Amino acid sequence: MPPSRADRPPRRVGEFDLIERLRRLIPAAGAGVRTGIGDDAAVVSLPRGALVTCDVQVEGVHFRRGTSAPGDIGWRALAVNVSDIASMGGAPRYALVSVLLPPGVPLRDVEAMYRGIGQAARAHGVIVVGGNISRTSGPLALDVTVLGEAGRVLTRGGARPGDGVWVTGTLGNAAAGLFLAHRPRVRVRGARALLRAYRRPSPRVRAGRALAARSAVTAAIDISDGTARDLAHVLDASGVGAVVHLERVPVAPAVVAAAQAAHLDPYVWALGGGEDYELLFTARPEFETSARAVARVAGVPVTRIGEIVPRRAGRWIVGPAGRRTPLRPAGWDHLVTRSP
Ligand SMILES: [Mg+2]
Repeated sequence: MPPSRADRPPRRVGEFDLIERLRRLIPAAGAGVRTGIGDDAAVVSLPRGALVTCDVQVEGVHFRRGTSAPGDIGWRALAVNVSDIASMGGAPRYALVSVLLPPGVPLRDVEAMYRGIGQAARAHGVIVVGGNISRTSGPLALDVTVLGEAGRVLTRGGARPGDGVWVTGTLGNAAAGLFLAHRPRVRVRGARALLRAYRRPSPRVRAGRALAARSAVTAAIDISDGTARDLAHVLDASGVGAVVHLERVPVAPAVVAAAQAAHLDPYVWALGGGEDYELLFTARPEFETSARAVARVAGVPVTRIGEIVPRRAGRWIVGPAGRRTPLRPAGWDHLVTRSP
């Protein structure tokens, strides 16, 4: 039986036919786009300043085709870039998507990947205005560039002693989801939300915009590498120290349950897991009074987990019974005790 069209490697479909098929799966036109896909360059407008970021996802480094669905790979490739725009307080607008295709990837999978890109783009109001597809003898790779509209911009360098250290949402969800994805027999209440947090992270665009609009907010970063590591990036850039209170770190009950099944302390995931794509930010004390309003607009809780201190006061995690442990990018694991 001859393979169906969708089973065929894309090369046999023809480049122009392929681009036409894929274009239908993504939002390719909209406000601000004068010329999108199909010319030598896109013509777009951004009324205020522009934020630009790019990130490449490579098979074998960032994902495995065996364990990640093609749609999830596409979603993630766009979402991680949207998250970097969100952490600066910007509004994502346009994306460029380049894909390197090794031989033998079925057209069905390429389409599913673009469908995932399209879903993430639509979810965040992003228009795909261009890109490129090339064959490769190397691994599958998706390189995405996102342009965002800037207003007041939040950088990593604005934290000052006396500021609070805050996070959006709850932490450790993605790490718990990764654990559950590999242990399908483990039953945990709330597992679906954790699996989704891992497979289809939801960047905090509304939160970033709401935070940037408040002058009390001084710095921000998205949590991609792990809370402790990303906080360290802010401290390095700002030239300050910090104290984090472990019992204030927000962890969802489902994460606690999954951690129990994994025989791990949930704070291992919350502080070291990464890929949550929540925002970590610092704000002057007067932010307390507007925290609730920001949470409402952002659609996500915000929690103060610590304070910024002068650089000479160091970097600490305060655990149960007031025990202090140095906060290192991986320093959290000294504090937590693994259950047997
Ligand atoms: Mg980032």
